[in-house]
Amino acid sequence: MSIPYSKTYDIIVVGGGHAGVEAALAAARLGANVVLISQNIETVGQMSCNPSIGGIGKGHLAKEIDAFDGIMARAADSACIHYKKLNASKGPAVQATRIQADRQLYRSAIRQAVESCPQLDLIQQDVVDLLMKDGRVCGVLTHLQLSVAAPKVILTTGTFLGGKLFCGHQVIAGGRAAEAPSLPLAQKIRGTGLNIGRLKTGTPARLDARTLDYSVFEKQPGDGRREAFSFMGSPADHPQQVDCWITQTTEETFDLVHNNLEKAAMYSGLVEGIGPRYCPSFEDKVVRFSHKKTHQVFIEPEGLHSVEVYPNGISTSMPADVQLQLIHSIRGFENAHLTRFAYAVEYDYVDPRELYPTLECQKIPGLYLAGQINGTTGYEEAAAQGLLAGMNAVLSLDGRRYIPSRKDSYLGVMVHDLTTQGTIEPYRMFTSRAEYRLLLREDNADQRLTLQGIELGIVGAQRQQAFAQKNADIETLKQHLLQQKPALIPALIKCCEQAGIKALEQRSVLDLMNKSQIGYQSLWEACVASGAVQAHLRLLFDVIFAQELYKGYSDRAEMEWQRIQSLAELPIPQDYDFSEISGLSREIREKLARIKPLQLQQAAQIPGMTPAALGILQAAIRNSYAD
Ligand code: FAD
Repeated sequence: MSIPYSKTYDIIVVGGGHAGVEAALAAARLGANVVLISQNIETVGQMSCNPSIGGIGKGHLAKEIDAFDGIMARAADSACIHYKKLNASKGPAVQATRIQADRQLYRSAIRQAVESCPQLDLIQQDVVDLLMKDGRVCGVLTHLQLSVAAPKVILTTGTFLGGKLFCGHQVIAGGRAAEAPSLPLAQKIRGTGLNIGRLKTGTPARLDARTLDYSVFEKQPGDGRREAFSFMGSPADHPQQVDCWITQTTEETFDLVHNNLEKAAMYSGLVEGIGPRYCPSFEDKVVRFSHKKTHQVFIEPEGLHSVEVYPNGISTSMPADVQLQLIHSIRGFENAHLTRFAYAVEYDYVDPRELYPTLECQKIPGLYLAGQINGTTGYEEAAAQGLLAGMNAVLSLDGRRYIPSRKDSYLGVMVHDLTTQGTIEPYRMFTSRAEYRLLLREDNADQRLTLQGIELGIVGAQRQQAFAQKNADIETLKQHLLQQKPALIPALIKCCEQAGIKALEQRSVLDLMNKSQIGYQSLWEACVASGAVQAHLRLLFDVIFAQELYKGYSDRAEMEWQRIQSLAELPIPQDYDFSEISGLSREIREKLARIKPLQLQQAAQIPGMTPAALGILQAAIRNSYAD
């Protein structure tokens, strides 16, 4: 007999990881009554693996979540103990923020956000079943037989569904180290007819910093100049900053891997799941990159008040005795004390092609999936999906939905990729996945998305106000820069001369911003030195600089996008012979023949289909109607 829980909710979120937290907070921001049910309240917001947020592609996602008033970037600011702007010397589109987080501070910030949200209840229970009525989900059942009712349920169970942990030949049922797996729910999901697969990922050992020889490591200080991760933050939100370090593996490390390969769970056949190609285990690296004689190991502190460090780059599924030898063979780790051992985890995931782009299950109305359960890996990927699922679960209550577009966000790229192409290995975000990547920058995530968020009702009053103020400030600075004549400003004349440009031909500082010969740094320095811009306006200057730099591209991309949208509905005859189309690569022709798209929009989703190829296909289809 189940015990009906006295309170009913609009939304139930199962799982308090990165996806679950953003889902619950997003749903609450939209005015829903939400309950977040997680196995352990202490692990809400827990970083399962490396204590860091951001990186290329991932930082972009974190900023997009922030643009919708999500929590990830703000929590990252309050936990940031080491800040880096990656690709700082390259163009704004490929620059990305990566911060090292104090694990405890991050978790506390998330917990505080959850606990201070008025419409959000937290329950510590293991969800064991989904409650169904007339083919729709209508609630969940917990291990204490508590039945909680809601018309919408969001599952964000991470690596816990049918989770198994591997350390050499030892296999333990678990979702994460020292945490139980979710088995009854996994069985339930398998019984629903959804297409399920197995994936795996791994984590390295943790070391006691006091037992490492820092004299042989290379120091990696953070950036001298820091920015906030969140559009609402400031570098003053960051706690004390610390250094990271780099060391190298040795020949002995390689020999140890080669000599013990059959003991690694990955290689002994124990692990069936496929691991992340771009984040391989150490044994994978040694085998796949056998020409390399050494690999770098990044030594990242776990927190300001922790003696543990995270040796990034050496996740492994080797048994404990080999792990000890491996660690001790690395430069500076000769006397290292291991506080935790490395392990691999294998878990069930649902083929994301089972989902609509709202992240609702096609086969089970009312059920949404977000995060690692959809075949992704990474905190940011999970959080971004959580935000979307939380948003859509609430919007659907009154017949609305939000489908992010590939042109507007990495969130759109990811959800589109997942729901149309699926994934057979853990999916992580890269800027190369986006065809409009020059438009999808970190600096303009708020410009791209916050207005959409305001229209949807998910952005709070404080951020709305700050956003309006920022836009007004950008406009004021833009007008000011338009009036600054380079030919009248000695520092800018010099800057132009050095770049081989005639200052007299430039109408304003804005004209100089898209001259690649000048470059950002010299233009900024000349503007500040001459007093054309005040130094404290740097962030606004950066936004305008990127807008001007990519203006031509962005206009063309907009036209291209409109063209693709306008032809999306163009039907393709069922028996169309794609082999006759000249100008298409053989690979694309073969894929078209195999997939047989019925609309041009469907053809556009085929992996490898470029805008140029789509243009050729469109012309061919149009001609076939004219014949
Ligand atoms: P999680 O963060 O896993 O959170 C799931 C939550 O759901 C947990 O709180 C859990 O207690 C709860 N839960 C599960 N089942 C139930 C249930 N039935 N009832 C109630 N609550 C439930 N990512 C990388 O990008 N790079 C890496 O190198 C990397 N290595 C990893 C190594 C390991 C060992 C692990 C475990 C993860 C690793 N990850 C890595 C993945 C990263 O941790 C995840 O991508 C991210 O945490 C996924 O977030 P999520 O919200 O989907 O799930």
